[in-house]
Order: sequence, then structure tokens, then C-alpha cells
Amino acid sequence: HHIVAADRLSFSYPDGTAALRSVSFSIHHGESVAVIGANGAGKSTLLQQLNGYLTPTSGQVRIGDFPVTPKTLHDVRRTVGMVFQNPDDQLFMPTVFDDVAFGPLNLGMPTKDVEQRVTAALDTVCAGHLAAKPPYRLSCGEKKRVAIATVLAMDPAMLVMDEPTSGLDPFSRREVIKLLNEFSHTRIITSHDLDMVAEVCDRVIVMHAGEIRADGAAEDIFADA
Ligand code: ADP
Ligand code: ADP
Repeated sequence: HHIVAADRLSFSYPDGTAALRSVSFSIHHGESVAVIGANGAGKSTLLQQLNGYLTPTSGQVRIGDFPVTPKTLHDVRRTVGMVFQNPDDQLFMPTVFDDVAFGPLNLGMPTKDVEQRVTAALDTVCAGHLAAKPPYRLSCGEKKRVAIATVLAMDPAMLVMDEPTSGLDPFSRREVIKLLNEFSHTRIITSHDLDMVAEVCDRVIVMHAGEIRADGAAEDIFADA
């Protein structure tokens, strides 16, 4: 049973740029998949189809049992936890605690349960000590970890991350890699950090000019490269 199935997915931006050209693939529960390729290959566009931020020009994406459409967005976003490349896009509350609590509160969870979720999510990313801080005071690595916690607090079945290690110092990068390896969730990651990909992902999808050039086991893809 697949958690993601993209079937002949195509997408053109309003200016006519064909960013995805008939892309098909499917992903099993628990798989850890990297999407790699040069700048402009279509990686970000593909990720944004997975949570319905962009709507296909043709073809479709299914998440679990339903196609991603404007009508299913609510369910889709509960399944797909999206961590943006730039944590500043994800952190906008006065404190770290408030940011991590925002999603669960929005789901209508009781305050007590929300507090437990926030504590657990911050512990997972080793950021419990940052709870009272304003996000803009955090280092880049701390922001990245807190952004991941905001998504974990929603308990999604799947994590989608755009460039999880970009802009991090070697120590913070190590911490994020460790964290990614500890998840048992389905993970889909875009990255130019091939050493990280080799450590974290079992499978690699190579994109070029809006198409999938290769899709296979990480060791096979890197052996061919
Ligand atoms: P990647 O994430 O692999 O760098 P993107 O998905 O960002 O690639 O971009 C794929 C293609 O779509 C590129 O040619 C890019 O210039 C183009 N593109 C991205 N965003 C837009 C946009 N908002 N409007 C027009 N073209 C865009
Ligand atoms: P790039 O690939 O150049 O980082 P993107 O086209 O992925 O740019 O995204 C443009 C901006 O919008 C980024 O700052 C990104 O974090 C944000 N963004 C991307 N996807 C979403 C989304 N689904 N919802 C809200 N913001 C998003």
C-alpha cells in the first residue's frame, strides 16, 4: 500500500514554465526518499504538489486513500508534514512554545494535550530549553530543529523536507542527520547534500528539467553517478 502515488503529474507556472513533465512514482509507508537534481530541476515544485500548495496542470497525486484536491486539503495537510527550506517561513509566533503549539491548537486539541505534544516534540529535537525564547533569537540550526518540531507536534504520517541541512554549521548538520535517521515516518527530502542523502535515504529520485531521470536504491544511484 502506497502513501504517495504521483501519476503523470505535470505542472506549468502561469508564465508557461513547464516545471514538471509527466512525473510518476510511488512511495511506501516508512520509505526514506531523496529527490535530487540541479537548481531548476523541479524539486521544490514537486514537493509543493504533495501538500496541495500547487495544483497539477494535469495528472494527479494521491496521498493515502485520496487525491490531493482543494477539497481534501485538510486531510492531506494532516498527513503530510512540510518543513520549508527557510525556517523563518514557519516560525512566526512570539515564542518557540507558541509556534510548536500553533498546529495542535488549530486542530482543536485540549490545552493539556497540546502542552504534552509540544514538550514531546521539543524533546525529540533537543530544544526543550528553547521553549520560552522568541524564534528570531535562535541560531540557524536551532531554528531548523524548532521548525521540525512544529511539524512533529502535528503527528503527520509523512515528513517532507526541502533542504534540511542547507545553511547549517557542521555540528547542527550532524544533529539534523541524527534526527532524520531516528524517524520511522515516511520521509521525502530534497537536498544537494549527497553525503547526508547517502546516510539518511534508502531511495533516490534524480530529476532533470522537470522529469525523473533515475529512481532506485541509493547505493545503485550513487554507484552509477
Ligand atoms: P528546484 O527546486 O529543483 O530548484 P523548482 O521547482 O524551484 O526547481 O523550479 C523548476 C522550474 O520552475 C525552474 O525552471 C524554475 O525557474 C521554474 N519556477 C519556479 N518557480 C516559478 C514561478 N513561481 N514562476 C515561474 N517559474 C518558476
Ligand atoms: P526555493 O526552492 O527557491 O527555496 P520555493 O519555490 O520552494 O523556493 O518557495 C518559495 C518560498 O515559499 C520559500 O520561502 C518557501 O519556504 C515558501 N513555501 C514553499 N512551499 C510552501 C508552502 N507549501 N506553503 C507556504 N510557503 C511555502
